[in-house]
Amino acid sequence: MAFLADILSRVKPSATIAVSQKARELKAQGMDVIGLGAGEPDFDTPDNIKQAAKDAIDRGETKYTAVSGIIELREAIAAKFERENGLSYSPSQIIAGTGGKQILFNAFMATLNPGDEVIIPTPYWVSYPEMVAICGGESVLVETSIDSEFKVTPEALEAAITPRTKWFLFNSPSNPSGAAYSRDEVKALTDVLMRHPQVWVLTDDMYEHLVYGDFEFATPAQVEPGLYDRTLTMNGVSKAYSMTGWRLGYAGGPLELIKAMDMIQGQQTSGTSSITQWAAVEALNGPQEFLADRRKSFEERRDLVVSMLNQANGIECPKPDGAFYVFPSCARLMGKTTESGKVLETDEDFVSELLSQEGVAVVHGSAFGLGPNFRISYATDTDSLRTACERIQRFCASLK
Ligand code: PLP
Repeated sequence: MAFLADILSRVKPSATIAVSQKARELKAQGMDVIGLGAGEPDFDTPDNIKQAAKDAIDRGETKYTAVSGIIELREAIAAKFERENGLSYSPSQIIAGTGGKQILFNAFMATLNPGDEVIIPTPYWVSYPEMVAICGGESVLVETSIDSEFKVTPEALEAAITPRTKWFLFNSPSNPSGAAYSRDEVKALTDVLMRHPQVWVLTDDMYEHLVYGDFEFATPAQVEPGLYDRTLTMNGVSKAYSMTGWRLGYAGGPLELIKAMDMIQGQQTSGTSSITQWAAVEALNGPQEFLADRRKSFEERRDLVVSMLNQANGIECPKPDGAFYVFPSCARLMGKTTESGKVLETDEDFVSELLSQEGVAVVHGSAFGLGPNFRISYATDTDSLRTACERIQRFCASLK
């Protein structure tokens, strides 16, 4: 339609939202559907956090706030970075926004000129390349593989850097693969970046608290202090504190960049809800012990799903260290035929036949830039996960 902006031709709708929508429609038609498409914890927001929001309303904290967030929140975020990551940011070096999504958007809006490149390892979170495109930049995709546990190698990173590279977008633990980089693995990447002073790091640490076993989370500016002046460390309360609907993400970084992001946000949303900000102060300053219990539940679910998927014919599922996703390969099932006579040519065929034959909603890997794979979000109860995996096993066994 001529009325619409040209930029739309460079942007795709979110495949994860589309899968959740399709699953809802089939459910409404009476089908027994198990949705493993959505990227949000099934746990509720902890009571102390909800109470802080109610108290904020009762105190009348219902007005516009500073664009980057109330000082109490920016101090709580600064304290979090110091306590958990050994990173010192003053409150003026911190911005809070409407979800991690707005923070990323602010950063790209504030820095990308036409032709500027952003290096994004695949598989990637669906929104990264679309955000880069909307902001006028070019995504440079660096493919990983199941053999490297979906982690980018220093050699591949080095090869992707050009004089136009502005950002390296790093996400560990990763959505969609769950891959988490150890301190040594982060160091190997930061060593490459130290040789390319024009490249900044945007690290999306959203799943920091969701790591399993004895895995220890590490973030680039902590591992390589030499990158502090060109790193934007992004995080948020959505996943760790089960606050996806509250909409609060944040970042710490160099003052000039934060000021530019504040300017963009000031002309856009003026920042996130005052009530959400007070809830986030409690999330970050309040008790953290419940995180360990939730980690334990997620770890048990991961182990169940990985073990059951590896028993399905033709599926190969690595065991990642973090997030609440697995990203199995269905490569060995390509070319097979379903009971209804459909030949599976792509991972999109696989997920759509799985949904119509067995009522299990997952997202195809190519939506995240790498296939033939699919993403399962295991942020749901064990019974549903067990049933879903049994159905996937049955579906795979039925293929000829
Ligand atoms: N980054 C990653 C890797 C994510 O998976 C998500 C949400 O799915 C976000 C950022 C955005 O988080 P928020 O809901 O806080 O905008």
